[in-house]
Amino acid sequence: MFDDEIEVECPECGHENGTPVDRVRDDEHLPCERCGSTIALGRQKHLLIIEHVTKNIAKLRRSLAKFRQNSPTARRRPRGKS
Ligand SMILES: [Zn+2]
Repeated sequence: MFDDEIEVECPECGHENGTPVDRVRDDEHLPCERCGSTIALGRQKHLLIIEHVTKNIAKLRRSLAKFRQNSPTARRRPRGKS
């Protein structure tokens, strides 16, 4: 359900490199896909991950809201057992 890529912008050419979250979390440096320069994640690493998680939470909320609207069982209350 979660989209597990983070867009890491290259400071040299501005290219957004779609990078798996695990790589952003584990690596300090990433190569730019377009210009080949090394992107130092350093301080922005945590920001990128936080941003990514926040985005996914927002997405999850939206899909939950949609799911509730579309689900006919949501309104039905369970009756007591006989
Ligand atoms: Zn680049």
